[in-house]
Amino acid sequence: MTSSPPTLMWFRRDLRLADNPALAAAFAEGGPVIPVYIRETGTQSGRASGGASKWWLDKSLKSLAADIKSRGGSLVLRSGDTASCLDALIEETGAKTVFWNRRYDAEGRHIDMEIKSGLKEKGLTAKSFNGSLLTEPWQIKTNSDGHYKVFTPYWKRVRAEYTPPDKTHPPQAFAAKELASEPIGNWKLHPEAPDWSTGFDKIWSPGEAGAKQRLETFLSQGLHGYGEDRNRPDIETGTSGLSPHLAHGEISPVTIWRTVRKAMDGGQKDLSEDSAWTFLSEIVWREFSHVLLYHYPDLATANYNRDFEHMPWRDAPEDYRRWCRGETGYPIVDAGMRQLWQTGWMHNRVRMIVASFLTKHLLLPWQLGEAWFWDTLVDADPAANAASWQWTAGSGADAAPYFRVFNPITQGQKFDASGEYVRKWCPELHELPLKVLHEPWS
Ligand code: FAD
Repeated sequence: MTSSPPTLMWFRRDLRLADNPALAAAFAEGGPVIPVYIRETGTQSGRASGGASKWWLDKSLKSLAADIKSRGGSLVLRSGDTASCLDALIEETGAKTVFWNRRYDAEGRHIDMEIKSGLKEKGLTAKSFNGSLLTEPWQIKTNSDGHYKVFTPYWKRVRAEYTPPDKTHPPQAFAAKELASEPIGNWKLHPEAPDWSTGFDKIWSPGEAGAKQRLETFLSQGLHGYGEDRNRPDIETGTSGLSPHLAHGEISPVTIWRTVRKAMDGGQKDLSEDSAWTFLSEIVWREFSHVLLYHYPDLATANYNRDFEHMPWRDAPEDYRRWCRGETGYPIVDAGMRQLWQTGWMHNRVRMIVASFLTKHLLLPWQLGEAWFWDTLVDADPAANAASWQWTAGSGADAAPYFRVFNPITQGQKFDASGEYVRKWCPELHELPLKVLHEPWS
């Protein structure tokens, strides 16, 4: 029996046991560890998750709860005002310590700061850790002590200097402690009226085991050809599909970095080094988005480049509706928007095409697209979504300039050269010959 008091492990977007710094530190305290997830619904709550993210959360929490149960413990689910939920749990358990991994969106950071100082005032220990990034967004500085605003030099620094910390192993056993926990079914995490998530199960396996499996499959089938295939929406193994797992913290980017570097250092015969570095650079795009979000907290709503405040966007609700529904008449755009609706995910190349179409053809504000993606992506991420939308619209850091328009016809012909992607998602075009598939009106 241990005499150390319990520690609360407050899970958020870090729904895993392996390589979880806050969890490892909680176990290192020596006392029982009480795992808890709080659905923030009170006055203290950040941006509400979108429908597809909530679908994922439902499955991911069930998977985490099962993993904890298999180690003798029980994941406690509570909802309400975050600070009040933590206070109640401290009262019920006698915990003296609360640990969590950091988040970087403005609302989340504000909540966490208040909670940390409130706990400290009560004489408790509250500590946060980096559980979702390779490096903290404030860590890598330019020579003039600022943060990076351009990706390539940032990437070069990470590539040259980053060394992952040692692996932390999943805990063997949680203490058996029965506390009141809300049934997850009461949280109604599936979309309603309509429930468009019914097909997601066929594609995704949310949870830590699913994330591990995706990484293994990608290493054996996709990584070698990533340099070439990553722009091909018609190739299923062209990219990793790890984004929703990363967005919910079911796998750490540190684990991914370590695993890929090991494969490069001889673990995997004939691996293309260029492909592997290109893949790691995408992981670092994710980091770079967090740098931007950290330094520009209103990145999801306000133009990073304030000149765009004067952009005369159109007000055209019917055009927006048709874009959302994949009814624009441009095959590659419609295919992408339907893939998003039916699977909760869209290929990166097609994301750029549909985002360019919304902002540069339809001249609709990027914030409308950001909001639709936020609701419908299983990988909706406050940093990557906002930064990528601003990048495509031209208002972002290191962005595609306003005059760079993705031509939906030539992009389709180049990146869906076989036409398989469009044929899959736009079955009404199935019979068209390839020559006209990407411009059917011709
Ligand atoms: P892979 O090619 O296998 O890349 C591996 C990982 O690197 C991804 O899982 C992701 O975590 C990261 N990554 C790859 N590309 C980018 C990028 N351009 N920016 C930031 N991180 C990247 N990604 C999200 O995770 N969440 C979002 O909400 C999101 N919204 C986007 C909105 C727009 C308009 C655009 C153009 C891109 C957006 N992306 C977003 C980035 C990118 O499209 C996805 O990360 C990628 O398609 C996920 O598929 P994958 O896991 O197979 O990627």
